[in-house]
Amino acid sequence: MSWVSELARREIVTLAGYPAAAWEPELTRLHANELPWRNPGDDSHAGLNRYPEPQPHALIERLASLYQVPRARLLATRGSDEAIDLLVRAFCRAGRDAILVCPPTFGMYAVAARIQGACVCSVPLRAEEEFALDEEAVLAACTPQVKIVFLCSPNNPTGNLLESEAMLRIARQLAGRALVVVDEAYVEFSPRASLARHLDRYPNLCVLRTLSKAHGLAGARCGSLLADAEVVRLLAKVIPPYAITQLTVEAVLRLLEPAQLNATGLRVAQIRAERERIAQAVARLPGVRRVWASAANFILAQFADASLALARARAAQLLVRDMRAHPELPGALRVTIGTASQNARLLRAWAA
Ligand SMILES: *Cc1c(COP(=O)(O)O)cnc(C)c1O
Repeated sequence: MSWVSELARREIVTLAGYPAAAWEPELTRLHANELPWRNPGDDSHAGLNRYPEPQPHALIERLASLYQVPRARLLATRGSDEAIDLLVRAFCRAGRDAILVCPPTFGMYAVAARIQGACVCSVPLRAEEEFALDEEAVLAACTPQVKIVFLCSPNNPTGNLLESEAMLRIARQLAGRALVVVDEAYVEFSPRASLARHLDRYPNLCVLRTLSKAHGLAGARCGSLLADAEVVRLLAKVIPPYAITQLTVEAVLRLLEPAQLNATGLRVAQIRAERERIAQAVARLPGVRRVWASAANFILAQFADASLALARARAAQLLVRDMRAHPELPGALRVTIGTASQNARLLRAWAA
């Protein structure tokens, strides 16, 4: 038996999966109980009266080329949030297995685990060392119950990159024992190349990518899981058969043309420049204790009086994110980098 079928939940390994209506676009569809007519005003390419193609071939091809992996290593999901959920559901038995997270980090890993009834094992990042990964503590905490280690780099909400070599060493140490999932939602804003280029050598490594951040397509809900082909095949049985809507498929294909990707590169460069400017400006404000270096499209800052800073932002009609629920982040607020004029408005509100 393969390491994937040893590691995954037995019920999922043996699950047949739903036999979706066959996708043969050259034939007339009298097999899926759809209406034969489009609605007036339906200007989609395929017609919204039709079910979309499961894991649409053209979409998978486009995403695989964007992320430079073979098609068999990519599962398209409704945002990377869905990939997180699928991983936990397929690999963690309720009441028995666990995931490992390194707080302060993205909250969805723990939420997905709790929904599934899996335990959450926490190994904090080293706050005193710019939130570096505690590699030895992670490995020491990986009991046989831990099936998935979630690492987020650049990390949300602290903004720092985790050391690539440390993540790969963890993957190597846990080979055959647990998946190491590296969430790269913000990697486009960082100087770092994706760890997906190491998938061949680290079969238990999974990488999460999303179109929601750098590509400006949060509303389309389109994420990608990059992983061993057997992990992809297993999760393809768990994801609902028509998960990716036709509207998303058509929008993504249209908006990921080479000209668009060029424009994305320019916008990312603009956000990075603005991030450095805003980080310095916020650090100089009265009442700001500290601003952490960020490789993402947000900054994290610690305030002497975070409630006052929140209230002042709101009075200027601006929302920033309160991070004080993380015990490691007293007085911390997370600010997404906006346009130059939005950022200027925030700085004015806080300078007052
Ligand atoms: C925003 C975010 C995501 C979720 O992205 P979707 O693809 O929109 O679901 C995943 N991970 C992290 C760390 C994020 O901040």
